[in-house]
Amino acid sequence: MEIIKINSLKNRMGTNSYLLIKNQSAILIDAGIALEDIEIYNIKLKAIFLTHCHFDHIMFLNELCDFYQCDIYISENDKAGLFDENINMSKFFKKHFIFKGDTNKIKIFKDNEEIKIDDFIVKCLLTPGHTAGSTSFLINDNLFSGDTLFAESVGRTDFATSSPIQQKTSLKRLENVDFYNLYPGHSRMSNKTEQINNIKYWLSHY
Ligand SMILES: [Zn+2]
Repeated sequence: MEIIKINSLKNRMGTNSYLLIKNQSAILIDAGIALEDIEIYNIKLKAIFLTHCHFDHIMFLNELCDFYQCDIYISENDKAGLFDENINMSKFFKKHFIFKGDTNKIKIFKDNEEIKIDDFIVKCLLTPGHTAGSTSFLINDNLFSGDTLFAESVGRTDFATSSPIQQKTSLKRLENVDFYNLYPGHSRMSNKTEQINNIKYWLSHY
């Protein structure tokens, strides 16, 4: 399995999206990249997994879904953000976002659910706090943490559906998840060893 971190020049918010490829079949973690950013890989995109519904992570969902006709996986609590500019925060930008694709393609996962797509097995761990439905995805020993956990910090909890209390519980949860690599929604990659200290710091200081 190849994991490619992609940052789009059409997304100026430093959002990381991750393209996972195995035998030319692919899944995408977050839709912060445009079609032109992944066309070059010549893959068949089967599904997009959304860590949460904020604008910078879903902004190219319409064009990607139009082209690939792929499924979209999101938590129950963040689904509303696909259709609400206040919740997804695109109201602050000129390019407002509302999902305009086929709503039958939207699939809701449950906590701890394992979703199999070709050779990929994606374990969905609900880690609310940054948003009400923020989710981390565990694929083999790789954790994709969205805006819940970053290499050197943690996600903000002052947004419309944020909860600082839930964020603490989620960080404690991630502390006990067995992963090796951390692929966050912004900034650089990290690993579990570094994150044990990072999580400890944030749990004791906030
Ligand atoms: Zn966010």
